Amino acid sequence: MRLGIFGGTFDPIHVGHLVAAVNARHALALDRVLLVVANEPWQKVAERPVTPARDRLAMVEAAVAGHPGLEASAMEIERGGPSYTADTVEELVRRFRDAELFLLVGADVVADLKSWERIDAVRDAVTLVAVNRPGAETVELGPGGPLDGWRALAIEIPDLEISSTDLRDRARTGRPLDYLVPEPAIRVIRARRLYADQG
Ligand code: ATP
Ligand code: MG
Repeated sequence: MRLGIFGGTFDPIHVGHLVAAVNARHALALDRVLLVVANEPWQKVAERPVTPARDRLAMVEAAVAGHPGLEASAMEIERGGPSYTADTVEELVRRFRDAELFLLVGADVVADLKSWERIDAVRDAVTLVAVNRPGAETVELGPGGPLDGWRALAIEIPDLEISSTDLRDRARTGRPLDYLVPEPAIRVIRARRLYADQG
């Protein structure tokens, strides 16, 4: 099995995430792409209130429901505590012994990789797949670059200048999320009154 791992806070999920996931799946013939919802994004919790993990999971589940090959994963939520990709990768290696693992990240994350916990374990277990993102540097795959020593490749997707940060701001100020966030996820936001009063 060729298994994609796409981790994120997904606060909220948006079409930038989904376009990255479906295009990586297509380009690399991945059987499944897991959208792994961070339980406690340890690099973010110090900076801002993060929406409860169960609500973020519900938005991701709603967004991918019925889409072949995309799945919401609660594994980091079930594990609890701060979410380290190294733990997630180790768990997937144990669970799917014959799988080839592809770790999908946006270009902005590539520069942060060196700050991750036990990054060597991640590097040994996966092929890194970087996608372009507006505002982030073009990913350098060659020697001397941030992915030197990795099995890594880049795939091109349409540049979508969308971020969860902007969407939270939109929600707070009553501007539309339509067509930026999939409709089923917007329904979760409305039903659970997420992002309404954090201003
Ligand atoms: P925030 O603004 O809160 O950081 P975000 O939009 O960056 O939210 P994350 O949950 O932090 O979303 O990102 C999860 C993954 O999706 C990361 O690897 C990130 O680089 C990638 N990603 C997010 N938005 C885009 C986009 N518009 N294009 C390509 N990749 C993206
Ligand atoms: Mg981000």
